[in-house]
Amino acid sequence: MPGKSCTFLACLLLSSVLQAQPPGWNDPFPPHRVMDNLYYVGTSQLASWLLTTDEGHILVSSNYESSVSVILAAVEDLGFKFSDIRILISGHAHPDHVEGDALVKQLTGAEVVVGRLELPYVQAFQPPGGKVQPVDRIIDDGDTVSLGDTSLTAHVLPGHTRGCISWSLQLEEAGQTYYGWIECSLNNLGIRFVDNQEFPDIVEVFRETFTKAREFPVEVFVSSHGVFYGLEEKYVKLLNRKPGDPNPFVDPTGYQAHVDEYEALFEAMVARQQAEAASDD
Ligand SMILES: [Zn+2]
Repeated sequence: MPGKSCTFLACLLLSSVLQAQPPGWNDPFPPHRVMDNLYYVGTSQLASWLLTTDEGHILVSSNYESSVSVILAAVEDLGFKFSDIRILISGHAHPDHVEGDALVKQLTGAEVVVGRLELPYVQAFQPPGGKVQPVDRIIDDGDTVSLGDTSLTAHVLPGHTRGCISWSLQLEEAGQTYYGWIECSLNNLGIRFVDNQEFPDIVEVFRETFTKAREFPVEVFVSSHGVFYGLEEKYVKLLNRKPGDPNPFVDPTGYQAHVDEYEALFEAMVARQQAEAASDD
């Protein structure tokens, strides 16, 4: 982190040019414990999580290759070793969530886990420097990824990408167990809903995703971009939390409201694109 001494690896990486794209997305964000062994180690705009266990760690989402140095610094700032990452769960198949997979693999030797339906898109990416997107394990709906005493279950909720995977996990705090949720994305921005050759049934499939997303008993939720789950506001509450205060990341109502909000945005976008297509005819 700025102003702090860095390890050899972190210094090496930080010395390479940070190609933030779009600008500012790779600015550091204070790493923090969300709950239990789940930590935020992402940048200001691109979320990444670390799940720590006695048998090494799981990293969820590498983001851009230029995000990896920021993630590495965040992990080490929290007192963990980046080199102890054993599993990398690849983010959804957009460059801002998976471009760094090859570099994380190179630095840690982690097993890289990719969703089956995301595979063709992930493998089509070309990370910088002639690297190849790594894939070590292919995941289907309902599969689990486990390390030490931590286990994550994959839920394919397509729409934002063909095989967008959200992950459920059990989290504990103060003797209570919570249903944790690492959301893929419900965002419709930049997606074509009319004459989408690659994903012809996208509207119906995405619509079903909203119905399914509501059925999970989510209590603690995070998502691929902080803005989807109120990261900044919740982090401020976390900083000001006094003994006995609730953990701000416990937010079942906020989760349902988030699904409602993104469903309304999706329906509005579909209607707009359909109206535009009709007026072009
Ligand atoms: Zn995306």
